[in-house]
Amino acid sequence: METRLADFIKDTPQGREADSILRACVHCGFCNATCPTYQLLGDELDGPRGRIYLIKQMLEGAAPTEKTRLHLDRCLTCRACETTCPSGVRYGRLADIGRDMLEKLVKRSFVESVRRTVLRTTLTHPALFNPLLRLGRLLRPLLPEKPRRKIPKAERQAPWPSTGHARKMLVLEGCVQAAIAPGINSAAARVLSRLGVSLVPARGCCGALPYHMNAQQEGKDYMRRNIDSWWRDIEQGAEALVITASGCGAMVKEYGHLLKDDPVYSEKARRVSEMAKDIVEIINAEKDKISAQITRQEKRQARSAVHSPCSLQHALKLGGTVEKLLADCGFELTSVADAHLCCGSAGTYSILQPELSQRLLANKIKALTSGAPNQILTANIGCLAHLQSATELPVKHWIQALDETLNRVYPE
Ligand code: SF4
Ligand code: SF4
Repeated sequence: METRLADFIKDTPQGREADSILRACVHCGFCNATCPTYQLLGDELDGPRGRIYLIKQMLEGAAPTEKTRLHLDRCLTCRACETTCPSGVRYGRLADIGRDMLEKLVKRSFVESVRRTVLRTTLTHPALFNPLLRLGRLLRPLLPEKPRRKIPKAERQAPWPSTGHARKMLVLEGCVQAAIAPGINSAAARVLSRLGVSLVPARGCCGALPYHMNAQQEGKDYMRRNIDSWWRDIEQGAEALVITASGCGAMVKEYGHLLKDDPVYSEKARRVSEMAKDIVEIINAEKDKISAQITRQEKRQARSAVHSPCSLQHALKLGGTVEKLLADCGFELTSVADAHLCCGSAGTYSILQPELSQRLLANKIKALTSGAPNQILTANIGCLAHLQSATELPVKHWIQALDETLNRVYPE
């Protein structure tokens, strides 16, 4: 696509990156076929091709309006369009650049700005989020069904194994996951302990929430703080930074790119991104040892439906890996239609765009339960909590299901 970027942006790093992305787009519209919001709303401007056009107009100097923002706000940033695009258009980066500019050009109302600030501050600060979660859990039995379902039940705390192995890896604690589902990381630690690896918690929020809520500088501050806090363990020989929430993994893998112009952090950010691995990548590398432990015993796993998060399949490009790993380990998996579509969680989307989010959730639950599974497995805390709010079936991280199976076969 031909572009004529306006003078105020064309010679900036953002302008140059946006220009190269826009030029790759041939406007074919294949991406609309897999865009969840285009499927629901049927409006060209609620599909990737239309949104790309809106961003292009803005970068070429046309004044954006509230309507421009409405269409960009409705985008889930699920990146299904990137997986579909035959020309390799990096829509997610273009959307980040466009939204950053839009936020400066079209101010939100005072009430909306405060709401967004409160949301991202609360979710990313355990000192604020954890007491609110505890209060919500206390009040849970008294609430009507809809809000009650949105408050995740407390998990039984599972033990963290000893950390005496010679091989060490870091594991990202994240922000809300540590409060909502601490059992995910302890399950990862137990499974890895069987492989002779100790997991050491790496504190911090990855920065995705502020970054994708258009507080991009704030998001980058999280990244720099994390690098500082993890660096000593990295220098002391941690093999990898394991991430059990694919949404966080997608963000940490971008640190190198997003901080590439930072004179102090660029090199360290590149190293952190290289070390970041989703837990499925780590287990896959040692899969034979795990599956050998399981297949010696009769298969007794529950029938499971897998929800592959957008961040896993479209951002990290690891679609199908969890399903294959679990099948190789003897799990019986049910088939799930339209597995490429978002469940509607998408960071804070479920709060900021509740109507669209609920429609996507209803469709996703229907697809996941069509094969009559006994449990739903996923790979991202946001999807997990969102799906659990709409079903009585247990929804778990797949590493928890794998850990349960291993514990049943070979209790430690
Ligand atoms: S983003 Fe890709 S699939 Fe969509 S219109 Fe552009 S070239 Fe076609
Ligand atoms: S990121 Fe998802 S919702 Fe946004 S345009 Fe692409 S496919 Fe559609």
